[in-house]
Amino acid sequence: MSLEKIIKLKNTLLFRLTVLYAGIFTLSSVLIFFAIYFKIHSVAIKDMDEEFLDEISQYSENMSRGGLEVIVTKIEEMAELEDPNEEFYRIITFEGEVLFSTNMSEWGSPDFYDIPEAIRQGETHHVFNTLKIQGRDHKARLVSAVIGPGTVLQIGEALEETEEYLDIFLSWFLILIIIVMVFSAFLGWFMARRALQDMEEVTKTATEISNGAYDKRVHLRDQYEEIQRLGGTFNIMLDRIQNLLQSMREVNDNIAHDLRSPLARIRGIAEINLMNRKTIDDYKNMAASIVEECDSLIDIINTMMDITEIESGINKPELEEIDITRLIHDAVEIFKPLADEKRLRLNVHMEDKLIFYGDRKKLQRMVSNLLDNAIKYTPEGGSVSVTALTENAMLRIVFEDTGIGISDTDIPRIFERFYRCDKSRSQGGIGLGLSLAKAFAEAMHGTIRVKSILNRGSAFTVSFPEHQSPGTVS
Ligand code: ADP
Repeated sequence: MSLEKIIKLKNTLLFRLTVLYAGIFTLSSVLIFFAIYFKIHSVAIKDMDEEFLDEISQYSENMSRGGLEVIVTKIEEMAELEDPNEEFYRIITFEGEVLFSTNMSEWGSPDFYDIPEAIRQGETHHVFNTLKIQGRDHKARLVSAVIGPGTVLQIGEALEETEEYLDIFLSWFLILIIIVMVFSAFLGWFMARRALQDMEEVTKTATEISNGAYDKRVHLRDQYEEIQRLGGTFNIMLDRIQNLLQSMREVNDNIAHDLRSPLARIRGIAEINLMNRKTIDDYKNMAASIVEECDSLIDIINTMMDITEIESGINKPELEEIDITRLIHDAVEIFKPLADEKRLRLNVHMEDKLIFYGDRKKLQRMVSNLLDNAIKYTPEGGSVSVTALTENAMLRIVFEDTGIGISDTDIPRIFERFYRCDKSRSQGGIGLGLSLAKAFAEAMHGTIRVKSILNRGSAFTVSFPEHQSPGTVS
């Protein structure tokens, strides 16, 4: 493996998690080992000390009953059975006179085993020590205890057996720790790999998308919730991006097809005026026509932007409490002169007060567009009506007219951008009103449905769930 690869591996989450697992396992094992090690050691020493105390109490008793000779005999009898390497006994006075001693040739200088100061001072009856003996590999445990006036018995016992036992324990542990390290590293690698597999799936999908496969989605398996959430959010984000791209593509197509004709008209006006000699009034008319065409172009661009922004979620509806009855009345007031001009009956059927949480401006534009269409596509003498009511927890606003109607073949297409039915081409319009109304309605969780009979009339019904929470629609 090259150095570069090793450096890269070092920075991966997989490597770090593996090391972390192995580290935690090893550290815990070492801690457990030391806890056990010291416990065994201290239990062994405690047992030894208890045995010492038992012995000492027996010797003290013998001393008080039969004097020094009795103890010496007993110790000698016992010392014969013991290895002098393993144990020694010594009886010594406070002045340092050795009254009795077993063979101490293997125990270094006898001066080394002086009577502890605490005993001399009479502060305690016995003292335990663990000592390192010169020339020997293992330590020894020593007890010095008063067994008679001014007389101290010292018993020394090698800790060889205990230490050897602990050495075996240590070497077993070292073997065990290597196994634990390898096992925990493997386990860590396995667990981290499992956890990261789904993350890799997200990365793989992201890579595919960056190469242009926008329809790819993260395959969500039934595994860790966090990863599932990440994948789910990622997929939602991708849906949004795809919608955005789709809308942008549509906007591009629309610009190509539908902005071309107004631009061609502007160019035509200018060209005609350039070709012939014209009066100043002709130029003024030309300028007025160009301003009109430009206004219509700006209107088209703005409306397209509004639709794209609302559909892609960039522009979110801002909800507030709205009296729908009032909002519709205001719109009807504005359109009344237009209806009067065409001698249309304009009827309104509404409850006194209809409260709804919605985006005021968007609702106003939606109502205006639908009302405008109803009036525009209804021939003189006809009638237009607006009904608003609540029904099954839904707010419904119905725009009905007795107009030219829409054919069954056109109905599925009228909400497309720039789509205009042939029959209506004589009327002014750009074919964006219904697309905008639909985008606004859907942004507020609403729908628009249409029923129409050719030459009889149409009914557009906008429905919203009545209870929207105040605030911004997510
Ligand atoms: P426009 O600017 O052409 O009115 P819209 O998007 O508002 O654009 O409407 C799309 C098309 O749907 C219209 O051109 C028209 O053919 C048809 N349409 C809409 N509303 C009505 C209606 N009330 N009656 C008949 N046709 C309608």
